[in-house]
Order: sequence, then C-alpha cells, then structure tokens
Amino acid sequence: MREPVFEMLWDCRYCGEKKLLGLTHRHCARCGAAQDPAARYFPAETEKVAALDHRYVGADSVCRYCGAAAARQAHHCGRCGAALADSAAAPLHALSVASPSPTPPRPTWRLLLPISLLVAVAITVVIGLVWKTEQGFVVAAHHWQRAISVERLGPVRQSAWCSELPAAARDVTRRPEQRSRERVPDGEECRLEKQDQGDGTFKEVRTCSPRFKEQPVYEDKCDFAVEKWHAERQAKAEGDGRHPAPYWPSVAHSSPNEREGARRELYTVVFRDAAGETYRCELPERAWTAFAPGAAYRGKVRAVGGSLDCASLPPR
Ligand SMILES: [Zn+2]
Ligand SMILES: [Zn+2]
Repeated sequence: MREPVFEMLWDCRYCGEKKLLGLTHRHCARCGAAQDPAARYFPAETEKVAALDHRYVGADSVCRYCGAAAARQAHHCGRCGAALADSAAAPLHALSVASPSPTPPRPTWRLLLPISLLVAVAITVVIGLVWKTEQGFVVAAHHWQRAISVERLGPVRQSAWCSELPAAARDVTRRPEQRSRERVPDGEECRLEKQDQGDGTFKEVRTCSPRFKEQPVYEDKCDFAVEKWHAERQAKAEGDGRHPAPYWPSVAHSSPNEREGARRELYTVVFRDAAGETYRCELPERAWTAFAPGAAYRGKVRAVGGSLDCASLPPR
C-alpha cells in the first residue's frame, strides 16, 4: 500500500510570504525568490495539501553555488544554471515532538522543613531514652509464672497450592485463587508518523507496536487436613512471693497422642517509690530471687514515659 503524500510548506524569507507549497512552489509565488529547502516545515493537520500522483525520485539536489533546490532528476540549477552533479541532498526535517517537560526541582526549603522536624523528633526520642532521674524504691511484691505447652498429634487444617500438596493430605477441597499476574498481548498501538522526503513533500507512515495488559493468573488452592503435632493447651503454674519457690506445672497425659512442648517462664518484681507509684521489672530467675521483700534500692526513671530502668537497680 502506498502511503499518502502531502506538500511540505515553506516561508519566503525575502518578501515574507507564508505557507508556500514545497512541491508546487519551487519559487515564491509573490516575489519569485527560489525556495530554500532549509526553510521547509510540516503543515498543521488542517493545512495539509495532498501531492496527487506525485512520483518520488529522491530528495532535491541543493545547488552548491546559489543554494537553490532542484528536483533530483534535474541536471542543472534552475536559478543559476550550474551543473548539479555531486551536489548535496536537501536537508530532511524531523517532526518536532514535544518532549515531556522535566519535573521542576523541588525548592530546597520545602525538603528542609520535614528533615529538620525528623531530626528534632529523633533528638527528643534519644534524650528521652537517655535522660533519667534517680530516686529510691522498695521491693513491694514478687510474682512468677511458668507454663508448659501441651501438644497433640492430630489433624490440622492447612492450605497450599494444589500442585504442592503434601502426600499425607486428606479431606482435600479445592478453590481457585489468584497466584500471580502476567503480561498478555492486547492488540496494538498505532500512530501516523510524518516523514520528510526531501523533495518538498512528506508521507504519512502508520507505525504500530504491540500493546500489552496485565491480567491475573488463577490456580487451584487446596484446603486439607494433615496429622501433625500442634499446640493444644497450656499447663500453667503461678504464684506471688518467693516462697514456695517457683515450680513447673505437672502435665497429665491423657493419651499417647500428647507430649510436652515449649516451656515459658516469667519473673516479675514490683517496686514502689516514695509517692506510692509502682513499677514492674521482668528479671531472670536468679536476679528475681535476690531482691528481698521490703528492701530499699536506688534506681533511675526515664524522663519520657516514666518507666523504671530495671538494669539501674543494684542492691544498695
Ligand atoms: Zn517572496
Ligand atoms: Zn544555482
């Protein structure tokens, strides 16, 4: 298929005549000056003039003596008569495409404000964590808690992609679920491109490129049951004071399908200051035991939050 061909336009730089036709007007229609091939430009959409039955033989030759353009098949310059052998071809014009304007740089002061706010907050937090005031405390109470997780071997419901189903899975049900996204062809994107032919005309070429879209990819998800050890309940023991000493709860096994799992222990000392305010410290068992009820200590309280720095409590 032949692409449609249109005339380029040019403006006469001698008399100022505008929008002369590149192919039809080899000379200015008003003053007769020769067309300057460098002055050609693409017309606006509404000003396109078709170059009917135009046979393209190549870009114009530009006379090296007077600069006038002549059709490729001419042997001599139409203006000064010089031979056109070895003459240069007319310059080709590119359609200026508006380039996206670069994002203007943000004024520095607009960045400076949030940054200085962040710095101020960070300094406040650091000072608050570091700044402490010392005061006296007495040991008000002891508390302890020990727990053993009891596990049971039995069916647990889980889900997985059906393609990755464990061999031991049973009671399987399926349902579709989105697993990923993929790029798939979605027709093509076409536009008309103006190409300067260098002889006072241009052609419009349709160029197309494939277009893609994203779409979800579904796969079967399986819900199933498997036999496995899982936490069933907690056996707990807890008490106040150091006596009797903390002990582990007894785990009564109701069936061979039960076993003991992870153990957890927590030792808390409650301190009271002169104003009657209480503070809790979680400590290792040995340190917890070392604090005698009613004994007095000096410790540090954080300026922000008012919590007691438990590591600052050496026996007086
Ligand atoms: Zn003119
Ligand atoms: Zn010439």
